[in-house]
Amino acid sequence: IAGLPNLAELPAPRLSFEFFPPKTDKLEEQLWACIRRLEPLAPEFVSVTYGAGGTTQERTHATVARIVAETSLTPAAHLTCVGATEAEVEEVARRYWADGVRHIVALRGDAPSGQATYEPHPGGFAYAADLVRGLKRIADFEISVAAYPESHPTAASAQHDLDNLKRKIDAGATRAITQYFFDTDTYLRFLDRCGAAGITVPVVPGILPVTNFAQVVKFSAMCGTNVPAWMARLFEGLDEDADTRRMVATVVAAEQVRLLQANGVDEFHFYTLNRPDLVYAIAHLLGARAK
Ligand code: FAD
Repeated sequence: IAGLPNLAELPAPRLSFEFFPPKTDKLEEQLWACIRRLEPLAPEFVSVTYGAGGTTQERTHATVARIVAETSLTPAAHLTCVGATEAEVEEVARRYWADGVRHIVALRGDAPSGQATYEPHPGGFAYAADLVRGLKRIADFEISVAAYPESHPTAASAQHDLDNLKRKIDAGATRAITQYFFDTDTYLRFLDRCGAAGITVPVVPGILPVTNFAQVVKFSAMCGTNVPAWMARLFEGLDEDADTRRMVATVVAAEQVRLLQANGVDEFHFYTLNRPDLVYAIAHLLGARAK
């Protein structure tokens, strides 16, 4: 019978954690408690997301700078093409390089709210592949990009989307991080398709531990992630029962990552939502231990 992997025989997994920059003092405290809790797990890197608009971008920079100054962690700064000229984006990248940040997660970004579809900024980088090329012209950044096992919601076709991922890798990215997913088969088939397309860099699964199921259903509809019927069944009746929901959420994510591990996956990117407990427990189940 094919079972779960024998943890005693497996090397520790390689981990990365994603945070978002806090908007208030209270959220800042929450983020830093999260960072301190996860830091001993010695992730390969931790990344900080980037939003549209000046103050949001400053918050990303400030968070990344504080990680450099106050922790042993290696930060990766997310950067998007939205709402800025090439020169402006390049300026942000130069600042990161000057501050000692060597890893960028290069993204296109989404249309600002109020704008129905994405339109490249006149004079800006149009797509993530263009941004990767631009960053490589500035300095030898390590660059990660986004990948979509279930295809980007606006992609013309799954093949078009895969060709786009290949373009981002050919432009200089050395890792893809996937949109979160719940169908493990879909991800594993996607890995096969990446391999067949000549994509040889790691395509790291993005893992979202689900704490608020109702919210995840809404968000998944926007980003094109399928929420399987079995998951709805598992969370059924728990909307008002946060304690049980957390236990169920841990089991769901643990089953997912251990199934991936059983299929040879040894690198995981966690969308932490700045909450450490579930992520810590799941990383522990994967064999990660505090150093
Ligand atoms: P691209 O790779 O540029 O692709 C976007 C779409 O355009 C795809 O459908 C692609 O097939 C199509 N396309 C690409 N090139 C062309 C072309 N030349 N002509 C026509 N169509 C083309 N968003 C944020 O705002 N901030 C973040 O910090 C952030 N972090 C993320 C981290 C991860 C790991 C992931 C998976 C997503 C993240 N996002 C973030 C969301 C991301 O910005 C959106 O999903 C966005 O819609 C697409 O970004 P991309 O980099 O995948 O775009």
